[in-house]
Amino acid sequence: PDVPGAERVRAEIDLDAVRANVRSLRERAAGAQVMAVVKADGYGHGAVPCARAARQAGAGWLGTATPQEAFALRAAGDEGRILCWLWTPGGPWRTAIEQDIDVSASGRWALAEIVAAARAAGRPARVHLKADTGLGRNGCQPADWPDLVAAARAAEAEGALRVTGIWSHFACADEPGHPSIAAQLTAFHEALRVAERAGLDPEVRHHANSPATLTLPETHFDLVRPGIAVYGLSPAPEIGTAHELGLRPAMTLSASLALVKRVPRDHGVSYGHTYRTPGETTLGLVPAGYGDGLPRHASGCGPVLVAGKWRTVAGRIAMDQFVVDLGGDHAEAGDRAVLLGPGDEGEPTAEDWARAVGTIGYEIVTRIGPRVPRVYR
Ligand code: PLP
Repeated sequence: PDVPGAERVRAEIDLDAVRANVRSLRERAAGAQVMAVVKADGYGHGAVPCARAARQAGAGWLGTATPQEAFALRAAGDEGRILCWLWTPGGPWRTAIEQDIDVSASGRWALAEIVAAARAAGRPARVHLKADTGLGRNGCQPADWPDLVAAARAAEAEGALRVTGIWSHFACADEPGHPSIAAQLTAFHEALRVAERAGLDPEVRHHANSPATLTLPETHFDLVRPGIAVYGLSPAPEIGTAHELGLRPAMTLSASLALVKRVPRDHGVSYGHTYRTPGETTLGLVPAGYGDGLPRHASGCGPVLVAGKWRTVAGRIAMDQFVVDLGGDHAEAGDRAVLLGPGDEGEPTAEDWARAVGTIGYEIVTRIGPRVPRVYR
């Protein structure tokens, strides 16, 4: 914008917080390396600036889902280790190999395509074999694991690849004491034994996401893969608040009131008139909506700090705007409305929005869309 700070709505990203979170995660990991997960545009915070901040704080690895996300990091000058784990058929695996990006295989099909890409590239691929230790999503089933391991070992002997990692992912690490956690660890140790017996010697064995990094030291192995904690959010209320976990939320989402007006009692507000003013009152117009990634389900329940108090979204959230009822309080066009932030100044947090709409903080920040400028400080 012509006038800095005059954006309609903006997400300020505190890169000092990202650095502090990564340092704190490194301390928790006590010797294991940290992979900062920056997929989905750094959970909505901006992948490249957050990746840089994470590197400055000592993240040895970056993690992405798609190869395109990894290429964007390379294009921005990142030369460190990157794992991109979401293998899909016909993907740009040759380019990934040429760009020294570690890739993942959960089955023979993926491995065969990666080997073909490595041959075309004329250099070995770096591959992390993924075991399904119980998540029931991506990863190789225990019954098929010896076969995948043998195929990888044969390709390694041929010089087509190097198995740099063996890994898996938790289903319920955010539910302390859940029996699947111990079962998954047992299965992982077994997968590692099978791989070792077959002669594989990976650089890194890894299983821990944020909740496991924060609460389960026995899951750290050589490398931990925190995502949400890098951005300062708690993985789940059961694990603790961000503050209790020593994390600093990095995003503050705010807007400038676009209009303030008096309206009479029983005035219908926004589409569908799902809110009617209980008396003569002042309405404030917040120029942000579901086109910016706000959940429409927050209609009637999303919290916003305006003029020193929490207000609730009055009526429906539209594509670009929503309304808050300011009651008898004074406000003016241009006043700041803070939708979410660390909570230090009384503003709601991403967790407050998540609770209001029945989702998780992850989704609230990740869905903040490209129309919202990110401002780094
Ligand atoms: N590892 C994998 C494979 C993931 O898919 C994710 C994110 O969903 C993470 C690590 C990071 O998880 P979290 O954000 O809970 O730390």
